[in-house]
Amino acid sequence: MIEPKPSSGSVFMVVAPSGAGKSTLVNALLAQEPAIKLSISYTTRQPRPAEQHGREYYFTSVEDFLKRREGGEFLESAEVHGNYYGTSRLLIEDQIKAGTDVLLEIDWQGAQQVKKQFPEAVGIFILPPSIAALEERLTKRGQDDSHVITRRILAAGGEIAHAPEFEYVIINQEFATALSELTSIVKATRCRFAQQAARYTDLFAQLGIHANPT
Ligand code: 5GP
Repeated sequence: MIEPKPSSGSVFMVVAPSGAGKSTLVNALLAQEPAIKLSISYTTRQPRPAEQHGREYYFTSVEDFLKRREGGEFLESAEVHGNYYGTSRLLIEDQIKAGTDVLLEIDWQGAQQVKKQFPEAVGIFILPPSIAALEERLTKRGQDDSHVITRRILAAGGEIAHAPEFEYVIINQEFATALSELTSIVKATRCRFAQQAARYTDLFAQLGIHANPT
């Protein structure tokens, strides 16, 4: 049996318009792949009834958020639907170094910022099967006020326009299919040459495989 050595973790960015079913898909992926760590973002948004500080988000004030941003604490940050959101730089960098895969549930603005710093980060865009399905999910969820829902529906087109910037697109029509596609992307990423070469250095050396053949 050949044993893998630790290699650095991968960064997965899952992006979608509100109501595409992103969080449900991500939670199901994490249940199947517990080795992936979900990044907990900071936000100035008010918690929804079922949300807990430190579980879904670190809920904070605008003043505190801006102070952290000034201090360079965020790997990326953006204003989305009138609230600030940001990803802790330290948490992500520590996990990648430790060989842990990290998943960021962020918006397209944040994904652009992460990609500049981690070109290897994997971008996955989740699309709804139709705008009607998206509206229905947002309304049925019943977690936001009607003006918040309207604002999010109006923003959906602008967000979807950024789908071409992502390597992967999943259409969340059949949940089981979408989940299996998401899982496949994670598995495929783990088989990238650089990852495998770092994990199996001895085997690669034995087989005479060189990272950059010239
Ligand atoms: P919600 O308020 O529904 O939890 O999230 C609203 C939007 O903000 C979603 O598109 C979500 O992905 C995005 N978001 C959540 N956390 C972050 C973050 O840390 N950075 C960025 N750029 N967007 C985020």
